[in-house]
Amino acid sequence: MMEKLVLASNNAGKLKEFAALLAPLGVEVIPQGRLNVPECAEPHHTFLENALEKARHASRITGLPAMADDSGICVAALGGQPGVLSARYAGEPKSDARNNAHLIGQLQGQSNRRAWYYCVLVLVRHADDPQPLVADGAWYGEVVDEARGAGGFGYDPHFYLPDFACSAAELPAEQKNRVSHRGQAMQALLAKLQALQS
Ligand code: IMP
Repeated sequence: MMEKLVLASNNAGKLKEFAALLAPLGVEVIPQGRLNVPECAEPHHTFLENALEKARHASRITGLPAMADDSGICVAALGGQPGVLSARYAGEPKSDARNNAHLIGQLQGQSNRRAWYYCVLVLVRHADDPQPLVADGAWYGEVVDEARGAGGFGYDPHFYLPDFACSAAELPAEQKNRVSHRGQAMQALLAKLQALQS
């Protein structure tokens, strides 16, 4: 099967997680920056389209199989927003603190606090792969006004998990990685890759 895979991200944390996930398959994961792949635009309205575009872009430039992810937080009372705009919800330059303040502001007076993180992973074996591998994951919680915890990133301090009675920023990193939207998507993708190999 694949020996090398380009990761269409330059995020060191993600690279580490994905490399660990794919280790059992003996796949070498190479960050796109190391192969001089420039960042790709994310112009679409869905996570899936953005991830597919990033994966095809990296594969086209490198000639290698490529994997991309796209993720964000969706809030029920906001019709699923900020969604694909999560990283830049409060505008440029992107800032977790301003994004969180903006989100809390948007929810003032709102009793429905239901929200979910969503992640989609797309793997293309070549740039024009007609059958990309796709896996996703959703992680449900509630947006709370008061920040809790110092772990995680992004919206985690305001993302409360009733099942764990704490925020995502209070969960140990290994636990978050196991149960999160990204963790779920990675497990699902791994199962699909393993099925292909068997
Ligand atoms: P990206 O997929 O890394 O571009 O993430 C998009 C944005 O969604 C991030 O900048 C965060 O604002 C938000 N996000 C995605 N996953 C998480 C998470 O696990 N915790 C907190 N925020 C997240």
